[in-house]
Amino acid sequence: MEKARTVQTDEFLVRAGELIEAGHFIHSRGWVPATSGNFSARLRDGRIAITVSGRHKGYLTPDDIMLVDADGRALDGKQPSAETLLHTGLYRRYPDVNAVLHQHSPGSVLASRLFQGEVVLEDHELLKVLRGIDTHESRVVVPIFPNDQDIARLALRVDEYLKSRAQAKDICHGYIIAGHGFYTWGESVAEALRHVEALEFLFDLEIRLLGVKKS
Ligand SMILES: [Zn+2]
Repeated sequence: MEKARTVQTDEFLVRAGELIEAGHFIHSRGWVPATSGNFSARLRDGRIAITVSGRHKGYLTPDDIMLVDADGRALDGKQPSAETLLHTGLYRRYPDVNAVLHQHSPGSVLASRLFQGEVVLEDHELLKVLRGIDTHESRVVVPIFPNDQDIARLALRVDEYLKSRAQAKDICHGYIIAGHGFYTWGESVAEALRHVEALEFLFDLEIRLLGVKKS
């Protein structure tokens, strides 16, 4: 339990500050209504700073960020988000990912109602803000998984999919959970936040485009 007493390291406080700021922005855009969503950042020693279960993401304080180990076990007696295993699964899958942001945004939920299995983003200049993309002539596939209250089972399903994308050398930038929200990640909180903003913008465009085509 020695580690539990060293929660307030400078690195933890810096990462917590970044998550708090991200929460302000994401909430201001209406993407984490009520107490929904959860955010995390990985520390250099492999521990993960993550939002405490049930806290409002628009008004986070350092007390609302806690530490878990790589398997999602609480290190400081607090209760982590119910979806912690989705965060730890992403960190295990991607050694260079150090931040994960999850939103219950209208764009991602609507997209999951309108598109079957995946949202395909093509020929958008904004794709270039996504990691590893340097031309609009790119095809970014965002998968849609059925919602599941069994988070361990959902995490396994997600990981099997991400593994197959990795084997195909195809970068995955995020995924949607149907009727629920979306996950995205990055090498830093700043990069993950850029992905949140870009993906939400692109989901919104694709939804509007579908409406225009149908009218
Ligand atoms: Zn959620």
